[in-house]
Amino acid sequence: MEKLQNFINGVYQDPVNGAYMDNYEPATGEVYAQIPNSDEDDVKLAVQAAEKAFPIWSAMSNNERSEIMLKIASGIEARLDEFAQAESRDNGKPLKLAMNVDIPRAVSNFHFFATAIEHFASESHQMVGVGINYTLRKPIGIVGCISPWNLPLYLFSWKIAPALAAGNCVVAKPSEVTPYTAYLLGQIVKDAGMPDGVLNIIHGEGGTAGDAIVKHPRIKAISFTGGTNTGEYIARTAAPMFKKLSLELGGKNPNIIFADCDFDEMLSTTMRSSFANQGQICLCGSRIFVERSIYEKFKKAFVEKVDATIVSYPNDPKAKLGAVVSKPHMDKVLSYIELAKDEGGTILSGGEAVQLEAPYNNGYYLRPTVIEGLSYDCRTNQEEIFGPVVTITPFDNEEEVLMMANSTKYGLSATLWTSDLKRAHRMADKLHAGIVWINAWLVRDLRTPFGGAKASGVGREGGWEALRFFTEPKNVFVKY
Ligand code: NDP
Repeated sequence: MEKLQNFINGVYQDPVNGAYMDNYEPATGEVYAQIPNSDEDDVKLAVQAAEKAFPIWSAMSNNERSEIMLKIASGIEARLDEFAQAESRDNGKPLKLAMNVDIPRAVSNFHFFATAIEHFASESHQMVGVGINYTLRKPIGIVGCISPWNLPLYLFSWKIAPALAAGNCVVAKPSEVTPYTAYLLGQIVKDAGMPDGVLNIIHGEGGTAGDAIVKHPRIKAISFTGGTNTGEYIARTAAPMFKKLSLELGGKNPNIIFADCDFDEMLSTTMRSSFANQGQICLCGSRIFVERSIYEKFKKAFVEKVDATIVSYPNDPKAKLGAVVSKPHMDKVLSYIELAKDEGGTILSGGEAVQLEAPYNNGYYLRPTVIEGLSYDCRTNQEEIFGPVVTITPFDNEEEVLMMANSTKYGLSATLWTSDLKRAHRMADKLHAGIVWINAWLVRDLRTPFGGAKASGVGREGGWEALRFFTEPKNVFVKY
């Protein structure tokens, strides 16, 4: 069985403690690889390597760093098939999705920040007759990047690319559940000519390897994407050490549908925004609010489409949904479906696991699920499920739907369907969300600020926001 290794100081190596853990294939429920169960000793080695590399990497010109990062982008692109197969196998997502979304986006992340850094500039503030201030933006030093399992290489690269472009050295940890593409990245980085120790990739559990990154005194900033509870723990741990923190956390996003929308476009996009990646995208719209006059029409059309959705093994070209990421996650989602029933909800479609034939009979497959009849403030409608489960709820007017949409502790994204321009702007202004899509979903421009309000996070990623996060501003005043 294949054994993955940590990538420290430009070398693939075993964890110091020699301990390994199982990596499961969601499509079959079988263990298919072993991954390092790293701990603080591996993080120490990674920090030592990063400290050695920092004077070299940070002294390079933006252009030199950019060229290496562009080679990383094309290195991944050249091995698109291999990366997509690995991502799909590790995560359970349809191969098509990994080929068309996950891996191309990882390529774009490196490409985008490799070129962005060449245009990144800092400010100056003249005081007429007195002098001038200019702001230097220096790399922070060694930074920690911790990412989740839902979009493994996509989110891993979304963090490490700006960190590296800005001149930092990185100690990064992918989710233990989906380590494979981050493991492959080591070789790409090496081939691209990145100096040893600039990017170090540690595998292992959040509570040990991840925690050691957060607690290491010489790691000066933490960029984390994951659950709100983990984010809260990381904030509590890192804040007294005065670490810079970027937290991208959970969501419970509303999808608000007015009667005057383009119905067909709304319906097909709503299928995606509800169930893409088995509903395991932090931006999925899991609470669908529909204006009452089209509620029955929507319900009928939506349920018909959901009933017809094919759930299958990831390599099946017909699969719209693949496997969810793990057995514990499948059990969690199923427990929320039971909760929804207890709370008085009616299952209109799905609501159960799917049994495929061997060799996929022990895989983690769930039917996309639609539930109605729940109050907006019940637990099913307030807590993040992070699976292929949506609720539908009618509304009568803007005030009511805004109140329901804004009622959760989260504030990541919102989707709005209407042809009324004034209403669209009015609503966008009032929604508690870091990102609002009007008549669209998951259209991403990498220059825009990305992140959430309330319990969905602290800070923003993307574009200049990310480069600002990964640099320390220093103001210098010169008297005339
Ligand atoms: P977790 O919070 O469980 O884990 C995220 C990462 O943190 C993993 O690498 C995990 O390691 C690690 N981790 C866990 N505990 C600790 C700890 N104590 N110290 C340091 N690191 C730790 O989230 P999931 O992986 O389950 O991801 C799903 C969540 O991510 C959802 O809530 C989703 O909404 C959110 N998310 C948010 C996004 C956003 O942009 N706002 C985007 C995508 C997802 P390990 O897996 O090895 O335990």
